[in-house]
Amino acid sequence: MSATNIDGKAFAATLRERIAGDVAEMARSGHTPGLAVVLVGEDPASQVYVRNKAAQTKETGMRSFEHRLPATTSQGELLAMVERLNADPDVDGILVQLPLPAGIDAQIVIEAIDPSKDVDGFHPVNAGRLMTGLPGLVPCTPLGCVMLAKSVREDLSGLHAVVVGRSNIVGKPVAQLLLNENCTVTIAHSRTRDLAEVCRSADILVAAVGRPEMIRGDWIKPGAIVIDVGINRVPNPAAGEGKTRLVGDVAFEEAKAVAGAITPVPGGVGPMTIACLLQNTVTAAKLRYA
Ligand code: NDP
Repeated sequence: MSATNIDGKAFAATLRERIAGDVAEMARSGHTPGLAVVLVGEDPASQVYVRNKAAQTKETGMRSFEHRLPATTSQGELLAMVERLNADPDVDGILVQLPLPAGIDAQIVIEAIDPSKDVDGFHPVNAGRLMTGLPGLVPCTPLGCVMLAKSVREDLSGLHAVVVGRSNIVGKPVAQLLLNENCTVTIAHSRTRDLAEVCRSADILVAAVGRPEMIRGDWIKPGAIVIDVGINRVPNPAAGEGKTRLVGDVAFEEAKAVAGAITPVPGGVGPMTIACLLQNTVTAAKLRYA
């Protein structure tokens, strides 16, 4: 058996079309949703992310506000910018691109963002709302993971979900979202004993570890839904000296032979992250203007 490919790129494109429809409708009633992205410094990967975010924001008809600050920006200057964006009625969502340069405490910056504009969903108020089942803004990558799992099977109720990784930005929120879908959830991490055996019990396996191809084919229950969040760049000598390629946390070819459905890397969870960011911006705008 070979697993179904879960096409995150196609799913994200459909989601963006739906978002564009919502944006057009809001614009007709007088408010075009706006997303502000703040980039501090010149981290090359962050520059690519910010460029893609801005392009896709505009494609859906939203307003995009880009703020590029030098690496020498102080924490106080960044907090002052966040305050201005909090007060700006044209801005529905604020995203401060991480990582921030040394000397700026990311947690202090995240907590300075108005929770109703926190489209990354990282503010402790939104984390608490997710935990207690209240409406709020949910972190984008976890939201994308659950949408992709539900694209395979609408009702996840009663399934055993194993989430490998317990970060605040991926592992914990994805586990909470799966619990909200009535899954029985196990969170595994670096201290978990016999991880392979734990993974083999998963009907849904979410890998958010950051270790290339750590999860092998024989760790996977036949027919399981596998959501691979990992993005790891590894050498690719076959393509030439110094060349690299992206792989996930799951050994894709091995897993594909056993799983029922699996997200590829790239083209799986990755494209969903920005689409969910845009969705969160529309959600934030609707909550503010409802
Ligand atoms: P973190 O480094 O913050 O967390 C990694 C988690 O994996 C930790 O909980 C850690 O456990 C666990 N872990 C590490 N080694 C092992 C091991 N050997 N066995 C079991 N668990 C282990 O990473 P993130 O959550 O930020 O990201 C995870 C991956 O997802 C990365 O590859 C990242 O690039 C990718 N990512 C992709 C996104 C996308 O858009 N597709 C967005 C965000 C991240 P412990 O807590 O015990 O240390």
